[in-house]
Amino acid sequence: MPTHLTIIGAGPGGYVAAIRAAQRGAHVTVVENSEVGGTCLNQGCIPTKALIASAEALMHMRHAADFGLEVAGTIGYNLAGIRERKDKIVATQVRGIHSLFKSWGINLITGKGALLAPDIVRVVQKDGTTMDVKSDKIIIATGSRPAGIPHIAFDAEHIISSDDAVRLKKIPKSILIVGAGVIGSEFAFVYRTFGAEVTLVEMLPRALSTEDEDISDIIEREFKKTKIKLIAGVKVEKSEKESDVILTTLSNGQVVRSEMVLVSIGRSMNSDGLGLDDVGVLRGTRGEVLVNEKLETNVPGVYAIGDVTGKFFLAHVASHQGLVAAENALGGQETMDYSVVPSGIFTMPEIGSAGLREKEAQNRNSAYRTGKFQYRALGKAHAMGEITGMVKIISDAVTDAVLGVHICGAHATDLIHEGALAIRMGATTRQLGSMIHAHPTLAEAVMEAAEDVHEQAVHVPREK
Ligand code: FAD
Repeated sequence: MPTHLTIIGAGPGGYVAAIRAAQRGAHVTVVENSEVGGTCLNQGCIPTKALIASAEALMHMRHAADFGLEVAGTIGYNLAGIRERKDKIVATQVRGIHSLFKSWGINLITGKGALLAPDIVRVVQKDGTTMDVKSDKIIIATGSRPAGIPHIAFDAEHIISSDDAVRLKKIPKSILIVGAGVIGSEFAFVYRTFGAEVTLVEMLPRALSTEDEDISDIIEREFKKTKIKLIAGVKVEKSEKESDVILTTLSNGQVVRSEMVLVSIGRSMNSDGLGLDDVGVLRGTRGEVLVNEKLETNVPGVYAIGDVTGKFFLAHVASHQGLVAAENALGGQETMDYSVVPSGIFTMPEIGSAGLREKEAQNRNSAYRTGKFQYRALGKAHAMGEITGMVKIISDAVTDAVLGVHICGAHATDLIHEGALAIRMGATTRQLGSMIHAHPTLAEAVMEAAEDVHEQAVHVPREK
């Protein structure tokens, strides 16, 4: 008899787990309240990247003359066209998941699922009818939603969350973005490119505070260059609507006027209303479902993956957890290894990072080295007209092992995987620097940064 596995939630965690389990011969049911693909496909990774691609294309058009090109007429944009492109991309991907489900014989039930017992999921379907699904194993993959701030109520029009922002109903004359983390910083560039005056307010002393400081410094400089105003080290206290303007009071007493406010301060886990307490599944103080390294909760046979576990809030981590949980639910003994998790931030320019930041290397109490290489020293970067950025490598001073790679610049989110692989394979900077890299490519910056660790980068002038 095949194992019957039920998964609640079809985001990048749940749908990937479903396919892997079906590939292993399980009988799989997925319960999804909304649309397959979850936040990532419908309100997150993919629609934002489609919007960013439109913004980047607009920027390139604005710089057409730099490439010796002439554009007839005025350069502008059509918001409906941008939305339509984004919606088409999302719809294509959604269809792709549906057809994968079909091909693997995965049973998709539309409705809200909750645990009635450790082996029963009760589904309340759209028409109000309920259905109980009995399973050998259950995976909770219900994801997360935008976190709010007390005294600032979302109204989907003037005070919005990232879910509203991706709908891109209008470009306001001015927008205040609360939170200069990943989502806030990405949207800041999008709104600014489309012409809004953008103010970012960040509680911590700098933007993108989880990144290596040399990297977030580049983005802060780009904020200045593009006239995105960053107010850091200050909290937002309240936002109030007064006729057609929002007045936002900051903890330093300043009041910022804007047509729109986007709150992007983090995510709240979707773990309420799932019957977890009744079944005895333990949650942490933030509402995250607690799991062990095999992604099993304290209740045998009940697993949890993705954002609802409160670990990384990254689609690729959710998917990887999905693979591990699916294998384990079917009798495997796999464990999660979070030691190398590459991350991509789609600011302008992009950021890719893996491994230790310099601050973390300093706290290790053992010597480290750094190597850096600027994009502006690369022929390819000049050819592309993308000379802002750098690659930074952090290595162990004794073993020479690559500990961290941080890239800010064009295609950083693709380039980072060479760094991630180097860390994962325990490569040294000597090995990374001595590998022949194709010319002319941006990847040469990774090779040169590795050589710079030993002050041997060919395209870095000798220090006086
Ligand atoms: P989700 O994708 O949230 O999916 C959970 C699913 O469960 C949803 O479809 C929901 O409808 C369903 N569900 C919830 N409760 C129930 C229930 N009771 N019954 C039935 N169904 C239920 N990550 C990246 O790695 N790269 C990026 O570039 C990136 N960009 C982002 C941009 C934005 C604006 C946002 C908001 C997020 C972004 N993320 C990005 C994060 C990424 O979207 C999440 O980490 C990822 O979607 C988490 O996957 P998940 O499967 O855990 O949950």
